[in-house]
Amino acid sequence: MQKGNIGVTTENIFPIIKKFLYSDHDIFLRELISNAVDASQKLKTLASVGEFKGELGDLSVRVKIDGNKLIISDRGVGLTAEEIDKYINQIALSGANDFLDKYKTDANAIIGHFGLGFYSAFMVASKVEIVTKSFKEEAQAVKWSCDGSPEFSIEEIEKEDRGTDIILYLDDDSKEFSTKERIETLLNKYCKFLPVPVVFGKKTEWKDGKQVDTDEDNTINETNPIWNRKPSELTDEDYKKFYSKLYPASDEPLFWIHLNVDYPFNLTGILYFPKIKSNIDMNRNKIQLYCNQVYVTDSVEGIVPDFLTLLHGVIDSPDIPLNVSRSYLQSDSNVKKISTYITKKVSDRLQSIFKKERADFEKKWDNLKLFIHYGLLTAEDFYAKASKYALLKDTDASYYTYDEYKTLIKENQTDKEDNLIYLYATNKEEQHAHIEAAKNKGYNVLLMDGQLDVPVISMLEQKFEKSRFVRVDSDIVDHLIIKKDHTETVVESEQQDVLSDIFKSQLPKIEKVEISVSAQALGENAQPAIITQSEYMRRMKEMATVQAGMSFYGEMPDMFTLSINADHALVKEVLTNEKEKCADQLAPINTEISTLQSELDALKKSTEGKKEEEIATADKEHIADLEKSIEKQRTEKSKLLADFAKEQPIVKQLIDLALLQNNMLKGEALTKFIKRSLDLIK
Ligand code: ADP
Repeated sequence: MQKGNIGVTTENIFPIIKKFLYSDHDIFLRELISNAVDASQKLKTLASVGEFKGELGDLSVRVKIDGNKLIISDRGVGLTAEEIDKYINQIALSGANDFLDKYKTDANAIIGHFGLGFYSAFMVASKVEIVTKSFKEEAQAVKWSCDGSPEFSIEEIEKEDRGTDIILYLDDDSKEFSTKERIETLLNKYCKFLPVPVVFGKKTEWKDGKQVDTDEDNTINETNPIWNRKPSELTDEDYKKFYSKLYPASDEPLFWIHLNVDYPFNLTGILYFPKIKSNIDMNRNKIQLYCNQVYVTDSVEGIVPDFLTLLHGVIDSPDIPLNVSRSYLQSDSNVKKISTYITKKVSDRLQSIFKKERADFEKKWDNLKLFIHYGLLTAEDFYAKASKYALLKDTDASYYTYDEYKTLIKENQTDKEDNLIYLYATNKEEQHAHIEAAKNKGYNVLLMDGQLDVPVISMLEQKFEKSRFVRVDSDIVDHLIIKKDHTETVVESEQQDVLSDIFKSQLPKIEKVEISVSAQALGENAQPAIITQSEYMRRMKEMATVQAGMSFYGEMPDMFTLSINADHALVKEVLTNEKEKCADQLAPINTEISTLQSELDALKKSTEGKKEEEIATADKEHIADLEKSIEKQRTEKSKLLADFAKEQPIVKQLIDLALLQNNMLKGEALTKFIKRSLDLIK
């Protein structure tokens, strides 16, 4: 037997491997199996060029648990004693300390940097043996053994078959790796698509109420996964089957892209568009990254643009370095090229489906929309292309491209300042009355009810020139789009005041809601009372919920406007009643107000143009007195009208109907409304 020291220039690599790398212990299995697969592939290659003339036979890599030992065996090229010395004993660790310090939490980086795949075995084993026999003729089998100190031993042994057994004596902290379940899970994670069969025990079956082994090998992997095959050989079923294998609990994918590049980098893969209805975050990180069929990672953030992390599937590229840290991956120029390429492919594919199968594209739009919107919002280069096929859907479920929609509404929805007004609803049910009113005016109303539609609206307003998005319930329909020929019929101010006093006095108290009242002449066929919420205030509040530093808006009450239609018969009736009941009492108050008002006006006129200090103190006091008296009379008037309104069920009824239409009538107010309605129809 021969003894020697492993050639490491830093003190000792093993404590580092053990101590720092514990978070990623799993990957030892991937490393050892990859080595075994490489050794088997090498032999195949040698056979194909005639350098190996023997029988290849079964090249499966076998993983066995034997008590406390975990054994990985292959029938690949094997190693001679010289090769062990060259590839295993001599590890060059130049500048090791700096590097280790920087990456001490990232096992992948360390293992990759030093080509330490094999040594990752010491993360879980207190002793490791290599039992190996080279494929070369007359080769002498050897056993290398090391207990985790820099010392190793090597001896000649008998071994019948060519190939290598790596024997791990699991240490006390790593007993988990001697359980079948744990190893099976790891094999399924890392080895599912390796190009050489990986066998772990036997297939089992149920017999007499027990799981028993059969004679058949339990092969973990599929050696020729579909992404390596030609698209022309594959059916839709193949793609769907592969998808359900990758994500067993998922709905069918919408469609897929088969990637295949060999220049300027190598990449194959299949990307699937999943059905995403809501909750972007839950759908992330489903793309699996492979390097020559060896699983690398499923967190692809930073490797592909953010919105593409919503796609599912597999990317396989030998140009994605296997053992490197994430930060390295993100700065790698190959990885950047790959990312640009994938974005382009995805966009091209969407465009071609849109062009060739528009009906199908529309059918899938609702599921696709979140993905495309996310791309539009986050990737400038994606917008340039996707804005040609991104769709807008209206409340009648018709779909339009941005350009088509612009043409559609140009004629009828341009306001007097030449702005194109995009009307939209966020809820077809709740905003039904407002949608109908807009449609009756010949307007088209978009349905913007998606998770990202609020930010998409803001983005589109910036991208489109001279355009505004206005929610259908943000104003009475006549005011949604103020056109050139618009003439406002004004309600005279006395009537305005009276209606405002009457209706304001009967508004219910709703928490964090403020309703102002305004009377308008909307024509006798329009509704008597409508509640709207200003676009500006609503957007500010919506933004406050997602943006820091805007909590000021968030805390403000929701502000609505109750518009009373002075032309409507029921409102007119209220006014008639009011004249009848209140005229006598109001007359002296009105006279008093107008006298006081003219006096105030005259006084104000006389002080007009004067500076504050030039006005006589007596005049100032007089003005203040008059204002106070007017205020007092007004309060008196409001009180009278409130008393009157209390006795008018129509007033309450009209308010409640408007609230009801906006989904704002709830609880006790709703109960009262029902009771009042019953009384009214009795
Ligand atoms: P890497 O695989 O990155 O080169 P490793 O430390 O994993 O680094 O392995 C070092 C070398 O040892 C390999 O390049 C290979 O030549 C040899 N080797 C490791 N495992 C085997 C094996 N199972 N069969 C044959 N050779 C092996």
